[in-house]
Amino acid sequence: MAVAFITHPDCLKHEMGAHHPERPERLSAIEDQLIASGLRDSLVHHQAPLATDEQLARVHPLDYVRAIRDAAPQRGTVHLDPDTAMNPYTLNAALRAAGAAVLAVDLVLSRKHDAAFCSVRPPGHHACRARPMGFCIFNNVAVAARHALEAHGLERVAVIDFDVHHGNGTEDIFEGDPRVMMASIFQHPFYPYSGTDNPAGNMFNVPLAAGSGGRELREAVQEVWLPALEEFRPEMVFFSAGFDAHAEDDMAMLRFVDADYAWVTAQVKAIADRHSGGRIVSTLEGGYALSALGRSAVQHLRVLAGVSA
Ligand SMILES: [Zn+2]
Repeated sequence: MAVAFITHPDCLKHEMGAHHPERPERLSAIEDQLIASGLRDSLVHHQAPLATDEQLARVHPLDYVRAIRDAAPQRGTVHLDPDTAMNPYTLNAALRAAGAAVLAVDLVLSRKHDAAFCSVRPPGHHACRARPMGFCIFNNVAVAARHALEAHGLERVAVIDFDVHHGNGTEDIFEGDPRVMMASIFQHPFYPYSGTDNPAGNMFNVPLAAGSGGRELREAVQEVWLPALEEFRPEMVFFSAGFDAHAEDDMAMLRFVDADYAWVTAQVKAIADRHSGGRIVSTLEGGYALSALGRSAVQHLRVLAGVSA
């Protein structure tokens, strides 16, 4: 069954300044590599809807959603934190990014697709319950996971986060929630300097030292993630798919290569095939070296689609 690829032109209009690394060209780089690889035509393309307040409110207090709506400028740029800003198009981009993840859940749970990838921005995993942070406004993967739990009645879902930064927002939202387990790797010590201080029992965090690469990723996945996932038996698996741990990405100092993204995707897909009916929803997080981002996203999508290189 073909993989759904969900995006929207609004996500290209959100800009945070001329030299900001989280820029519209990131999505174009993914599209370019999909075309170059020949994978684009084997995906089914969907336009992202706007998330509703009801969907956002499963994760964020409505006061927070209202404050974001009120902060949206008519012109120019307003800063929400030192590295997160809104232009006049950001609100719709953020609503599309969360809405894409909700549509992905609906498509996968209605069996129209086994898996779906949301090529969207702003990213989400630093967005806490009531705080924008680190380029993120709404926590897209958390909105999707809660939609699967509360609108579709699932009982157990797993969130897998391989972005180079700890998904502190996702942890803030799900710590102690017995219906959710989160497995992550991240560079440590590094922004946002969280994830290592006595995490909740449903958090399977593996901090990696600067310079770590594929070997350390394999140890983390085999020794920590896979046993936890086998025991938890998720009914659906979510990826916070950030590609900024790539060796070519100078945002951080991990040393993953393209093939590592295929490998980690395949390991998690095997769990989803065994326990979750193959149901996977993946949402884009970081990844700032454009060529490496595009190539790595293709590796991830190729495995999700079951298309060999
Ligand atoms: Zn990141």
